[in-house]
Order: sequence, then structure tokens, then C-alpha cells
Amino acid sequence: MDYETVIGLETHVQLKTKSKMWCGCANEFGAPPNTNVCPVCLGLPGVLPVANEEALRLTALTGLLLNCTVTRYAKFDRKNYFYPDMPKNYQITQYDKPSTLNGFVEFEFNGGVGRVRITRAHLEEDVGKNFHFDRTSGVDFNRAGVPLMEIVSEPDLTSADMAYEYLNALKEILIYGDVSDCDMEKGMVRCDVNVSVRPRGQQELGAKIEIKNMNSFSGVRRALEYEVPRQIEVLTKGGKLIQSTRRWDDVAGITEEMRTKEHAYDYRYFPEPDLMPFQPTDEWLAEVKSRVVELPLARKRRFMRDYQLPASDAQTFVWDVPLGDYFEGIAKQAKNPKTAANWVINNLRAKLAEGQTSLADLKFEPSAILELIDLVESGKISTKMAQDVFVEMFATGELPARIVEKKGLAQVSDTGAIEKFCDQAIAANPGPAADFKAGKAAALNFLKGQVMKLSKGKANPALAGQILERKLRGDRLAG
Ligand code: ADP
Ligand code: MG
Ligand code: ZN
Repeated sequence: MDYETVIGLETHVQLKTKSKMWCGCANEFGAPPNTNVCPVCLGLPGVLPVANEEALRLTALTGLLLNCTVTRYAKFDRKNYFYPDMPKNYQITQYDKPSTLNGFVEFEFNGGVGRVRITRAHLEEDVGKNFHFDRTSGVDFNRAGVPLMEIVSEPDLTSADMAYEYLNALKEILIYGDVSDCDMEKGMVRCDVNVSVRPRGQQELGAKIEIKNMNSFSGVRRALEYEVPRQIEVLTKGGKLIQSTRRWDDVAGITEEMRTKEHAYDYRYFPEPDLMPFQPTDEWLAEVKSRVVELPLARKRRFMRDYQLPASDAQTFVWDVPLGDYFEGIAKQAKNPKTAANWVINNLRAKLAEGQTSLADLKFEPSAILELIDLVESGKISTKMAQDVFVEMFATGELPARIVEKKGLAQVSDTGAIEKFCDQAIAANPGPAADFKAGKAAALNFLKGQVMKLSKGKANPALAGQILERKLRGDRLAG
């Protein structure tokens, strides 16, 4: 029987705020253990949380970036459970009244556009981190109370690869929006993977199996590549799958059962009594709206459409936003934006990658690139010379025309001078000259190369070609 895969992801993202969610402690990775803590985030009795407004803004902004509705009434709830890394013994989250609802994400997939509906993006708090040593264990509460957003997808994903692309797209959107740095190494994005299989065509969803706490996207893909065939095999052998939670063992490359539905937690959610529901005003929402940015996919499409760039160039400018912005700064004045893109990507980016220079400390004005292109297009210098001029311009900041003049690089477009080189080349190479006359068109390139050599690379190659051809054809006609 043919099975289809159904995947829904719950993605947790640490928000880019200065302080934690309910207190003034720094939201900072890498500080010595238990230095960014206070009575509030340590869950001591008698303290009161105060909601971090920037975290609420970033959550609303995420909602807008993910095409969600930002609700006018959000409330916080307590999710009760006991775990050593959670000092309050409850997590404050948004249960039935989240900050945002009903959106979607679009991303490139399989040569087309994948679309995944977003159930909600809500705000909660992170927990501390357990460390296990030889004989003892320790808890670092620096992370406890860090603003955490949970983005829940509908079960719209149909493969491991699609899940992987969705996660990357989501991450790129959040980085674009400056919502989170999404640094995977620092654990800023973690995700719970829900996956089931069902006979193709069946309406009802299969038993949901959740793989908890994945901290890399490639891990998610590998876990799914293991888990999906496992589920299909169970069903094929006549077995039954039950709703359960599993853990991914990255070293062994397998998933293992942690607990089944019967042992699921009862979180006893109830409204957080210490926090008011959040009802944003029009002004507040307008301020958040002003922070909406163009999404990566929209940017890519726009670069392809407005500047007729191939997808690969546009993608480069999506990945490297400052470089793309730099390109846009000159593209509007460029006669041929693709040529400008070539210079920015092949030359400028390569030079930047070589050294310590950043776009901000370039010695030349962006318009110098356009001047350089003009010098090539008007036949003043060859493309090859232009490469040298660029290197010089990058090093000194001098204008291209000035460099050409100083170094005597200008291409010889003086017909008289080129005629002389052509005559010399033909005289010195009777064989190829005869070949061309006999109809071997390729022989012309050889002679052109000789003219370039004689002129020390300065002859205008197009002109040299024309003159050679005229001379040789003329001879042929005469002969
Ligand atoms: P819970 O209340 O246990 O967290 P939800 O129904 O809210 O479960 O769903 C959590 C996540 O699991 C969502 O991303 C959802 O799309 C996904 N999901 C729900 N049912 C299934 C299923 N049968 N197969 C795969 N994913 C599912
Ligand atoms: Mg869940
Ligand atoms: Zn604190």
C-alpha cells in the first residue's frame, strides 16, 4: 500500500530582546552560569512578573511577517509541570488567547512554491539548562525566562525535505525581521516534530508521533528520514501506531519512545493571575507594522523582475542583504543591471571576501563601478583590463578613468595603429591567413590573438577583428 506523510512543526525561537521576559535580567548567551538571574526568574515566592513589551512587539511583528492576524486580546496562562530546569514549576505561555493566529509561509520548494499554514505564533518563556557532570548535575538559570516564541504549523508538510526547506525559510524570515538572530549554535531555534503516516487518499490523520526538542534542521530532516519509514513498516507488518513522544538519538541515528499518550502530562492550564491580558492599541499596532520588512522570497522575485537577474544572482542578494542593497544603489542607473550585478558579485564580493574590508569602508563610490562598465562598453578598455582597473580602484579609491590614464591602459581604437598591427600579423602568419581565406573562420581568432599580442593587449579586439576580416576578405576578392 502507498502511504503519505503528514508533518506539523512547533518551532521555538528566542527573541532578540535586551532583557528577559518578566524581569530586567540580561537576555544574553554565554555568561557564566547563574549570573543573569534574579528572584523573578528564579521563581522565588512573592515576586511579580512584568511583561517585556518589546517581546510582545516582536511576536506581533512575526505574526505580520507570517501573514497572521494579530489579535486584539491576548492573555497569558500557566502551564504546570515539574522539571529541574524550570524553577517556578510552571511556564507562562499563551494558551487559548495567543498574540497571533492563522497565517502562512511561502518558500521555494521542488522548483515551485511551497505553502504551509501557520496555526499561531505565541509568546512564552524559555527554561534553564541542565548540565550533567561525572558525579553531579547542575542547572544554569541564565536562560530561564528568556522570551521564547512558539510558531505552530498546520500539518501541511509532506516530506523531510519540505520540513527542512520550511525551517530554513522561517529562519530567514525571522532574521530579516530582526526578530531573532536564530543562531542554531546558541540554541536559539529548537523544534518539536509531529509526524504521522496514512494510506494515500485517507481523510483521517494517522497517530501523531512527536519527536521532541530538535536543535538542528539537518537533525530534523534525518529524524524524519528515519521515522517515516519506521512508521510505514509498523503499519505494513500489521502493527498499530499510538500517539506518543519520541526522542532523536543523533549519534545512533534513530528515534526512541519516551512516553505514550497514557502517560502524557496534564498541564492544568489556567490564566496567569499576575499578568493583565494584553490589548494592543491602534497606535501600538501601527508602530509594529512600521517594522515590517520585505520578505526574502519577495525580494528575490523583485530582483529578478526589476533587474532581469537570473535566480542565482537574485538569491545571492537575498542571502547577502548589504551586498544586494549596494547593487540596488547602482542598478537603477545601470544601462544593463546584469552587468552591474556581475561586477558586484564576481569582483566586489570576491575582493571583500579576501580581506578585512566591508562595504562600509570601501574607498570608491558605488558610481565608480558604473564608470568602469562604461569604459568597457565604449571600447576604451577591454574586459580583461577592467579587471586590473577594478583591483587598483579597490586598493586606492581612484576613479577608473584616472587609473586608465595613469597606467596608459586605454585600448587602442585608433584604426591606423591597429591596421599596422594587422598587417604585421598577416605577414608573419601566412598559414592561418591562407586558412581563413580558404574558409576556415576559426583562423581569424588566431590572427586576432596575434594582433592583441603585438599591441600588448591594448588593441580594441572587436576593431582588430573587423580590420583583419576586411583585409583578408579584400585580398580574397582581389585574388
Ligand atoms: P498538541 O495539542 O498535542 O500540541 P496540536 O494538535 O496542537 O497538538 O498539534 C501540534 C502540532 O502537531 C501542530 O504543528 C500540528 O500541525 C501537528 N499535528 C497535529 N496532528 C498531527 C498528525 N496527526 N500528524 C502530524 N502532525 C500533526
Ligand atoms: Mg505539542
Ligand atoms: Zn531575572
